[in-house]
Amino acid sequence: MLCRVSKDLRWEMAHRLPYHDGLCKNLHGHSYHATVEVYGETDDGGMVIDFKDIAEAAGPLVKQLDHSCAIDPSDVELKQFLTERGMKMFELESYSTAENIAGLLLEHVCLIVNGPRIHEVRVRVCETCTSAAEVVWSRDA
Ligand SMILES: [Zn+2]
Repeated sequence: MLCRVSKDLRWEMAHRLPYHDGLCKNLHGHSYHATVEVYGETDDGGMVIDFKDIAEAAGPLVKQLDHSCAIDPSDVELKQFLTERGMKMFELESYSTAENIAGLLLEHVCLIVNGPRIHEVRVRVCETCTSAAEVVWSRDA
């Protein structure tokens, strides 16, 4: 049977978008909420995947992000500020947009959540209760 299962994740994180023209250029934080969805065939035990396996696939990254300040390679000033004060940071290869965070989570989840029964993995990251970004890996793509 084809079925879609999901696991919700939450973390707190500060960030800023230095290039941005609007309010996002300021250092601020979000209570992030992400949903990881896995679509595939159920196994003999009636599961697409154990919820625990999704949590374990995403967990290490979420732990690194939680109560950190995400910084991009261009933000030398903020990196120096955090380093000098011994504050937790998470260095990204690109800007800390919801899109890029979703992509990073998808990469991490797909390293563990894979196999012939899995057809699609979807990660939706909400920065606020009205703003979200979603990325999808599909076997058919
Ligand atoms: Zn923001």
